[in-house]
Amino acid sequence: MINKLLADYFGENVPLEERNLNLAMMFFYDTFALALVYGLYLRLDLPFYILTIAVVLIVTICYSYILRYEKYNTGAFIIGMLVTMVELPGAHYFDGRLISAVLVFFTLGFLFCIFNINGKLLLISVVLSAISFSMSCIGLYMLHYREKPYDLARTSILFDVVIPVAICLIYTDRALSIKQRIHQREVDKAVKEGKKAEDMNRAKDLFLMNMSHEMRTPMNAIISATDLIEDKAVNNAVKQHISYIKNACNALVSTIDDLLVFSKVENSRLELINAEYDTGMLFEDIINMIAVRLMDRDVGFYVHLDANMPSVLYGDSAKLRQVFINVLNNSVKYTNEGHIGLKVSIEKTDNDNEVILRADVEDTGIGIKEEDMPRLFKAFERLDDREHESMKAEGTGLGLSICKTILDGMGGSINVRSRFNRGSVFSFEVKQKMVDSTLMSHIDDNSSLNVLVFEDDEMKTEMIRLALTESKVKVVCAGDSPEFNELLKNGKYTHILISLDKYKEEEERLEGCGIKCVILSDINRADEVPKNADRIARPVNILNLSEYFNRTEEVAKKDETRSFMCPNARVMVIDDNKTNLFVAEGLLKRYGMNVISVLSGREALNLISDLKFDMIFIDYMMPGMDGIDTLNAIRDNKQAWCRSVPCVVLTADAADGARQMLLNAGFDDYISKPIRVDRLAVSIYQLIDPKLIEWQTEEKTEAV
Ligand code: ADP
Repeated sequence: MINKLLADYFGENVPLEERNLNLAMMFFYDTFALALVYGLYLRLDLPFYILTIAVVLIVTICYSYILRYEKYNTGAFIIGMLVTMVELPGAHYFDGRLISAVLVFFTLGFLFCIFNINGKLLLISVVLSAISFSMSCIGLYMLHYREKPYDLARTSILFDVVIPVAICLIYTDRALSIKQRIHQREVDKAVKEGKKAEDMNRAKDLFLMNMSHEMRTPMNAIISATDLIEDKAVNNAVKQHISYIKNACNALVSTIDDLLVFSKVENSRLELINAEYDTGMLFEDIINMIAVRLMDRDVGFYVHLDANMPSVLYGDSAKLRQVFINVLNNSVKYTNEGHIGLKVSIEKTDNDNEVILRADVEDTGIGIKEEDMPRLFKAFERLDDREHESMKAEGTGLGLSICKTILDGMGGSINVRSRFNRGSVFSFEVKQKMVDSTLMSHIDDNSSLNVLVFEDDEMKTEMIRLALTESKVKVVCAGDSPEFNELLKNGKYTHILISLDKYKEEEERLEGCGIKCVILSDINRADEVPKNADRIARPVNILNLSEYFNRTEEVAKKDETRSFMCPNARVMVIDDNKTNLFVAEGLLKRYGMNVISVLSGREALNLISDLKFDMIFIDYMMPGMDGIDTLNAIRDNKQAWCRSVPCVVLTADAADGARQMLLNAGFDDYISKPIRVDRLAVSIYQLIDPKLIEWQTEEKTEAV
């Protein structure tokens, strides 16, 4: 019977909260019973028993209410208040003393509140109990002690001290142990949930990485195959359409990159992968990408890069590039006419090894309303502007939030000034460590140059004037045709930088002038430039200006990486995907190489025992033996050349850390898919035995 009762009220199946309450109630009932017995012993008046029994009844009703509806907190609050606000003053009043069962009601009530009530109700109950106890003491003093003096003879050490103290101590001990178990259970639950969330995040990351890989793999095939066609296309219309395909593909690749970063950002795990980077390459890449996007748009693109830009900085260049691309892409998306300007400046800090990189991206687009500004950098927020419905076609609403998070993570900042329907200026800045303070671009022979500029409009002219003047090159600019003639007649120039349209107008005059003419044209009009004329592609900036003026035989060769060949080289490509293999093979054959492709690491190992290769390209994600296993197996081969043959990993895995992980694994280079022709060229040029490189002077093309 007792065992059954114990099992029903305190068994393992009873929830811990209920056990806690049952324990408290057991002590309460004991105390009530004790109070009644002690009351009889003290011969208290009848109202004491009536009050106590009434409280017991109400407490019992509350108790069953709690058990039935599992409202532990409110139920316990009512019980606590009944005991400390009703029974306690009542017992005080009838008992007429400060010790005995009276004290146990206060102490037990107080402990009951602490162990059974949570949150705000706990605070209220503790305060009310304390007030009730103080009021009872004052009331008692006024009513009893003044009239009848304290009757010591009625005091019993056992009832007044030993039993109440024992009750409270035993209750506290038991209640504490249950509370501890409740706490432990909550900790365990939180740990379990945390682990579950972590597992889910990991699964999500993995999923995103796989998705990114799955999307990049076909993208690789599309972009690279398009490169191959572009290379052979002589027809302008075909070239134009190819550029549309490439443009769309690049946009898709940046969205994939944004999603990857967003998954990290969302989990507050944005990792910065800092490394030395070449500022010239970074800006060239950014400028080209945006210039291609603007190709058939009636929107100008002006670039000004600080002449003091150091050539090598240290930071996470991939993320920085993403910020530039996202902000510039927005300007492209939200500008229908006018221009987009990119200005990058550099500022010294107190620390000699550190600079502040500052960029302003200005556009004459649709602008942003004042009231929309606060939503601009929030994830998934796109501003709803019906007047410009046509311009809302693409976008995830992630771009700017990612920029902000990346810049915050790098200790930088971004802000915007905008006027609705007029345009916007996005400015951001970030500190970067300086590795090499030599200038990113510098015109070496500046003192001997004297340049006459005749561009289509004032802004374009100004950009060139600024870049050349900052490089200490003598420059004069013509605003219109008569001024151009005047300047041409009266000056001695080493070069004339002239826009394609102006060149067409002035062609006859220029033919016999004996001055080197450099034609400035948009990238999509390169074909219109006469074959023997020099050309600089717009937007003209210090990078392409210095590249043009500094060009020596060797540099020209390096830049025109497509013009070298390796006809005596034998290379192997290992990839489980036939389309990718075909594409990589096509790209490599352009260098006249003897390309052998295999579908797995195993096949590759069979081959290397018979044939010697000059370079090996290995896909990372392959079933069975992956890229790293294959690399290790090649390096372990006993033939000496296997230990030194340049091995380049090709992978669609663009996730953070992949590059470093693969380089640490021993690859000589990492090329992410979609494979960019220029990137591939750099890799071959840098890694292959120089004896195998032969320079070409003419490029052969074939009609499509
Ligand atoms: P998305 O461009 O993918 O919608 P973003 O986070 O990059 O997402 O931008 C959020 C919103 O801010 C855009 O939807 C657009 O309404 C507005 N916005 C961003 N850049 C510009 C800009 N240069 N001119 C006008 N509005 C812009």
